[in-house]
Amino acid sequence: MSRKPIISGNWKMFKTRQEAQQACRGIVAGSSDVEGVEAIVFPPFTALEAVSRVVEGTSLRLGGQNVHWEEQGAFTGEISVHMLLDCGCQYALIGHSERRQFFGENDESVNRRLKAVLATSLIPIVCVGESLDQRESGRAREVVLGQLEKGFNELTAKDLFRIIIAYEPLWAIGTGRTATPETAQEVHYMIRSWLGERFSADLPGQTRILYGGSVKPSNVRDLMAQDDIDGALVGGASLDPESFVKLIRYQC
Ligand code: PEP
Repeated sequence: MSRKPIISGNWKMFKTRQEAQQACRGIVAGSSDVEGVEAIVFPPFTALEAVSRVVEGTSLRLGGQNVHWEEQGAFTGEISVHMLLDCGCQYALIGHSERRQFFGENDESVNRRLKAVLATSLIPIVCVGESLDQRESGRAREVVLGQLEKGFNELTAKDLFRIIIAYEPLWAIGTGRTATPETAQEVHYMIRSWLGERFSADLPGQTRILYGGSVKPSNVRDLMAQDDIDGALVGGASLDPESFVKLIRYQC
């Protein structure tokens, strides 16, 4: 079974409702003829509903940048899976490195969020990746597989078939320093092999593993040419619609 490529844009804490709508109009106009690529944007929560009105009826998909595990309650500043669904989201990012680094998230909270998402129709994109120190001390494999092992605690192979993984080395996020296609491929291959050994022999062929970390129009093609890279999670270069359209059109 072939894995449909994904080009996704994480807009972090950028764009008002109007700016987000305008960007989406540009993305839709520039990419509506592209087939065989799943394009997703992750606007800030405040713009989700406004953007959902623009993307409705188009192939551009919508996702939330984070999600809480409880259905509702006294959790100031958090957002539930049902709230994301209510705003037209089909995807949820979980465990982005900025959440881990600045907001105290860890593999246990990733696991709780993941279970909440899997109980609904939302599709989770789980982010993992090592720091520069960890890579330089030869611990990249141990760190990435450790994050996956703990993040996927108590999940079944059936759950795993619904999960998308994003490998995002911390040293490449927002730094302009991209992992070489070969380095990224090596980690993606490692993750894919681990999925087969740990969960099910059918899983490696079906799981989409995205690369994230300073992806831009000038390097996307080389990254996407790697056997085990099925897509990109893009920060900076997704903010400008023209640049994001170029990424979606990487095959053209
Ligand atoms: C990200 O935030 O997920 C990311 C990969 O950012 P950038 O593309 O800016 O490195």
